[in-house]
Amino acid sequence: MFYPKLTRRENYKTKKNGEWYSSNRYYRKEILVDCQYRCVYCDITKSEIGGDDFLQLDHFRPQSLFPELGNNPTNLVAACPVCNRNKSNHWPVGKDVKESYSGQVGFIDPFEEESTSYFHITAKGFIEPLKPPAEYIIKILRLNRDGSVYKRKARMLSKELYFLASKAKNKRGPHVHRKICELIRNSEI
Ligand SMILES: [Zn+2]
Repeated sequence: MFYPKLTRRENYKTKKNGEWYSSNRYYRKEILVDCQYRCVYCDITKSEIGGDDFLQLDHFRPQSLFPELGNNPTNLVAACPVCNRNKSNHWPVGKDVKESYSGQVGFIDPFEEESTSYFHITAKGFIEPLKPPAEYIIKILRLNRDGSVYKRKARMLSKELYFLASKAKNKRGPHVHRKICELIRNSEI
């Protein structure tokens, strides 16, 4: 339900001479598709945030430290405006370390590793760290901010209601099914 496995496409479009396009907007659609239209950090989806216009492109390795990456699309990920702002230029491992994290600090490359190995979502919608550097990421990006917790809870509720609706349809007739579907529609955001 949270943090699906993400896979980057093999190739992004390049100019005829093989160089990357200079505007990262050129890659926006491809990056959003590869990130499954969600913020790779807090996992909010385009429908939960109000449409894909609200998803931004984040330079996973910050531009300020890695200007040579420019608009290299393999360094771009989809992020919601709040995670993008909170991440800002944070890159605690420094420029000379190849890995994106070291010890307790740093960030998980969502295309290299599965976030579900690092984060556990509680029934109340909070993200708990499973292993480093999850605690650092949760703190820096404020992944347990009110709006994110609420949306996770709403997603879980919606899923649960659909499950109940499917059971009611089988066992207790169409009336209960209709009622639960109505509840689902009212609870969706
Ligand atoms: Zn986010």
